[in-house]
Amino acid sequence: MPSPLGHTLVSSSIYLFFKKDFSFKKDFRNLILFIGIGLLPDIDMLLVLLSRNIGIHRSVTHSLIFVIFSSIVVYLFLKKLKILSFKNSFLLILSLLSAHLFCDFFTLDDILHNGINLFYPFSKEYIPAPFYLFMGFDWRQFSTLFSFYMLKVIIREFIITAPFFILALLYINKTQLKEEVNIESQN
Ligand SMILES: [Zn+2]
Repeated sequence: MPSPLGHTLVSSSIYLFFKKDFSFKKDFRNLILFIGIGLLPDIDMLLVLLSRNIGIHRSVTHSLIFVIFSSIVVYLFLKKLKILSFKNSFLLILSLLSAHLFCDFFTLDDILHNGINLFYPFSKEYIPAPFYLFMGFDWRQFSTLFSFYMLKVIIREFIITAPFFILALLYINKTQLKEEVNIESQN
């Protein structure tokens, strides 16, 4: 999997594209919440820690069925709590979870197995990508987390995902400026 940095930048970019009137002051808590939703498929790490079986990572929770089912559950839950206050909220949740799978799919992981279990439970095969964008790492090894290899993983992720985040920031900035001009011209 990419590190949480890669997933965070991708999730933040998606959130900003959906929430055009984003303001750090008002929406920071929701941004953190939606970054968390983007990380939801990695909840299987808890099972890995409990069962000590790394082989189950990126299976059930990295399938299309899980993405659709959990999008519906998370949407209904947040709607009930009245946290969703803008249009296309379901699409946002679906996009965040799909983007997680997309990033993991394109991660070279020679520690475990490449690819994700996309069609679980219909197929238990891990579908590998035709090429790789991100580098995997062994998060169970403390020495790996503070190594030169990890630095390369993070720099690579940053180079790939940061442009999307910058684009999203420019997009909301442009949209907000446009709206301000419209309000001023109406006055
Ligand atoms: Zn994952």
